[in-house]
Amino acid sequence: MVALKAKGVHPGLAVIIVGDDPASRIYVNNKKKACEYVGFRSEEYALPANTTQEELLALIDTLNQSDIDGILCQLPLPAHLDEKAVINAIRPDKDVDAFHPVNVGKIMIGDYDFLPCTPAGVMELIRESGIDIRGKECVVIGRSNIVGKPMSMLLLHAHGTVTICHSRTVDLAETVRRADIVVAAVGVPELIRGDMIKEGAVVIDVGMNRLSDGRLVGDVAFSEASEKASAITPVPGGVGPMTIAMLMQNR
Ligand code: NAD
Repeated sequence: MVALKAKGVHPGLAVIIVGDDPASRIYVNNKKKACEYVGFRSEEYALPANTTQEELLALIDTLNQSDIDGILCQLPLPAHLDEKAVINAIRPDKDVDAFHPVNVGKIMIGDYDFLPCTPAGVMELIRESGIDIRGKECVVIGRSNIVGKPMSMLLLHAHGTVTICHSRTVDLAETVRRADIVVAAVGVPELIRGDMIKEGAVVIDVGMNRLSDGRLVGDVAFSEASEKASAITPVPGGVGPMTIAMLMQNR
């Protein structure tokens, strides 16, 4: 950052939030705080829930042409808005979430400018922990465009042998039991139990699930899985903060 400032570069991120989804509000506040922490400019565009598609696209068009470096539109959008059209409208070189088809394609061929922040955070955690992915059995649970698919692709680029599980997978437990590295990105509280984890496996829990008693838990039953895993990420405090850190890197 100091180096950027010395060059007169003062990166700016525009964050668009539509409506008043409480989880989205927390994510946006965390992103704003992170921007302030690293000295970026952050501009927030909080639009009412009844914003029209045309109004949202007009804002993106203005930001595309402005001097802002990155544009992020917090998902999910209210149901009447077309998420795909919104993602497609953001200029690929300002698409810090890397959701635009151009950026998705670049990730597929392993020649990318931006990575989606959550999978990038997971890769950084694995790398920083000194874990070698080459040749390892990697099982990713979840196939969303935001987490599961890009996650699988990054593990593949790092020479893992990757299996992707999803809601129609016939024997999830048996597949997960093969894994040296497990990445859970499902959104079902504590779906992955201790008896599904191979002794010594690395377990990364992307899930963030709010229970009715207010507790935040992951997709992995942490205490059970901890007894088998050689390394495991907690929820909260594991992948979540890494996601924000990666967003700042994509500035
Ligand atoms: P999503 O709902 O888009 O996708 C969930 C995936 O899980 C789907 O592909 C579905 O096929 C699969 N799935 C559902 N039930 C299953 C089952 N019983 N067995 C196997 N697979 C099943 O969700 P998403 O956006 O990918 O998010 C997943 C989780 O990660 C959520 O809890 C979300 O809150 C969390 N998340 C965390 C961060 C972070 O920064 N830590 C970022 C994004 C998402």
